[in-house]
Amino acid sequence: MTAIEERATGDLQALARKHLWMHFTRMGAYDDAHEIPVIVRGDGCYVFDQRGKRYLDGLAALYCVNIGHGRAEVAQAGADQAKELGFFTNWGYAHPKAIELAARIAGLAPGDLNRVFFTSGGSEAVESALKLCRQYHKLTGNPGRFKVISRHLAYHGTTMGALTATGIPDARRPFEPLFPGSAHVANTNPYRPEADDPAEAIRERIEFEGPETVSCVILEPVQNSGGCLVPPEGYFQRVREICDEYGVLLISDEVICSWGRLGAYFGAERLGYVPDIVTTAKGLTSAYAAMGAVIATDRVFAPFAEGAASFDHGLTFGGHPVASAVALANLDVFEDEGLNEHVRANEAAFGAMLGSLCDIPIVGHVRGMGYFWALELVRDRDTKETLSDDESEWLLRGFLSGALFERGLICRADDRGDPVITLAPPLIAGPEQFEEIHAVLRPVLEEASQRLDLH
Ligand code: PLP
Repeated sequence: MTAIEERATGDLQALARKHLWMHFTRMGAYDDAHEIPVIVRGDGCYVFDQRGKRYLDGLAALYCVNIGHGRAEVAQAGADQAKELGFFTNWGYAHPKAIELAARIAGLAPGDLNRVFFTSGGSEAVESALKLCRQYHKLTGNPGRFKVISRHLAYHGTTMGALTATGIPDARRPFEPLFPGSAHVANTNPYRPEADDPAEAIRERIEFEGPETVSCVILEPVQNSGGCLVPPEGYFQRVREICDEYGVLLISDEVICSWGRLGAYFGAERLGYVPDIVTTAKGLTSAYAAMGAVIATDRVFAPFAEGAASFDHGLTFGGHPVASAVALANLDVFEDEGLNEHVRANEAAFGAMLGSLCDIPIVGHVRGMGYFWALELVRDRDTKETLSDDESEWLLRGFLSGALFERGLICRADDRGDPVITLAPPLIAGPEQFEEIHAVLRPVLEEASQRLDLH
């Protein structure tokens, strides 16, 4: 046991229960029989808890640590920057690392997405993008455009504006009424299609709302919530055309889907479209520091480029020099190790491994791309009948999460739509890790099927 692991036992458990308020967490679930998991160290695809037990991080610490854990050179880049200039703001000032990073991102982003506005995370990026769209329309003679169109079940963050775009009823309900002006349309679930033509559903909604009131459409390249909803062929090209036709801005929310998650720097690049705005975070620094960004095209930036105009919005930590230095070092790792190429070379093997679980009665559908995959869990594979609320509650919270963790696999068991298990390991993972994932998932899903009496 390392010194950190020793420190983490005993006292930390008690202190966490007494003082730490964990996010989206039923704090009442922890008692003497149920410990708060304390993760103390990471190395590559693995993390270690307070007792030194090793876990395969099948979720890259919430879709974040794309280059893997424990990269000394990335930590060093942050430390070096902290010594030179620990912090200075982007309000009215620039500093070398934010400039260098903005230019590097512009060079990697598709089309003329050339202008980078930094934030501290994903919700702030979405919040900033929604405000940017509104101000853009006001500056370009369309002051009535304020509405945002997004998709059922989509998660776009938790700040009030981002939550307005979020389409998960349970995430919205505790905070209603939300800001006016949100509308939700069919997502692209290939297993349970919500619309014959989900791109057309966006057109219909724009028409219904009144095009002169619609500011933007915000979509993830592959939607996380609902279980890795890969769009059908041609979907984004159609959405692009529809947005152009109605003068609506298209935001590609790539908080998860950029920085290699889909085997390219940007999901839009992988799927072949150029949005007006990209929102990103997480893998931008591989979460070695907190950072997000809004990336805008030349056209979106144009009204802010001249005279007295400014984007009347800012965040103290935007473009934080330490985070910028870390992001640059993170991108060096991507380049040096060819991580996008690695993901594309291995994504089929990852999908095939998960697909091999389809003989287990509870596994209804496997979908995804890159290193971003989900298994949908069902009561009946032939009819696609989903599990009841009680079954789902037992399965996800009473059984799966604990059983998977117990066997050393961190992944996500989620029922914000129909129940799914999501996997998104660090991008350095390969066949060895796929085997380990398989070795845990198979017995656990077989046991779940048996306990639910599924055949
Ligand atoms: N948008 C998407 C697509 C996300 O997946 C997330 C978080 O997972 C967010 C926005 C919010 O990001 P954050 O949690 O960094 O605020």
